Amino acid sequence: MWRHRVRSAREEDAEQLLRRLLDGALALGASDVHLQPLGEAVDVRYRVDGELREGQALAPGEWRRVVAVLRLLAGLDLLDGLHPQDGLLCVSGYTWRVALLPCVQGEKVTLRRQGGLPDRLESLGLESEVVGGVRSLLEGCGLLAITGPASSGKTTTLYTLLREVVAAGKSAISVEDPVEQVIPGVTQVQVRTRAGFGFLAAMRAALRHDPRVLAIGEVRDEESTRAAVRSALGGHLVLCTLHAGAAGEAVERLVEMGATRRQVAVALCGILEQRLVRKPCPSCQGAGCSSCGGRGWQGLRALARLVRGLPYAGHVCADGQRGDVRHDQG
Ligand SMILES: [Zn+2]
Repeated sequence: MWRHRVRSAREEDAEQLLRRLLDGALALGASDVHLQPLGEAVDVRYRVDGELREGQALAPGEWRRVVAVLRLLAGLDLLDGLHPQDGLLCVSGYTWRVALLPCVQGEKVTLRRQGGLPDRLESLGLESEVVGGVRSLLEGCGLLAITGPASSGKTTTLYTLLREVVAAGKSAISVEDPVEQVIPGVTQVQVRTRAGFGFLAAMRAALRHDPRVLAIGEVRDEESTRAAVRSALGGHLVLCTLHAGAAGEAVERLVEMGATRRQVAVALCGILEQRLVRKPCPSCQGAGCSSCGGRGWQGLRALARLVRGLPYAGHVCADGQRGDVRHDQG
């Protein structure tokens, strides 16, 4: 096997280089590392608190060796340079999700650090009323949609909710495309649309395993909408992420993607509308100092508001937990 053969000095060298890149990322507290070939050199950028910062560029020769060793260590296909690939890389006790994209300049690589997921909603920085409201919805059923623009922390909130669910001893299954991070205790299913295993098929299969909570990451087309709305109408608690600017837009998005207004009204138990905002630097409180690089802020927190489903939007839960029910025939 490749993994167990003796590595050459060149590979050792490339591995050292990769380690240096990732150690640099950790030292900055970066969540992602972007490596982008630009012809003459390879651009290295680190995402810190949502902003990209320039790192030291790599020479093309170094780059080829780093990509080769990345493929090896992340278990990617060593010869396939034509298709995008994903894998996991474990270096110095940290796990990184590796995504490789063939482009005309070479191969773009993005590494995202795994782990460090909060285990409680409070750790996201949410207000206590919002946390209380969301927790009460976790006791009921229906569709709870986490909305916000791209990179607003929706998936982190979804994963934190799932961590709370399993910590409370309840079973949870998530159906995702892609699974962004492995959450201990949650059964996570990767959808494979091209293989005929889409959101509907995955949710149907998941329901046979009798989960207390289902999750969809993310609802983005007709099929995933149907899967989410149907399961919620069937009396399950369904958590999902949904790309929408505001709570009202979320309803419109679901309707655009094939749900009827009546279905949405009955299925939705809540919309958690979220943004990420900068936290003032704890050392200087916004004035700018050396620990925040003069920016005055450090780190991000979630800012969210919870819109609860309308009172008439109740439905019969599988375990009959919610009382505000208007059960229509047909
Ligand atoms: Zn400061």
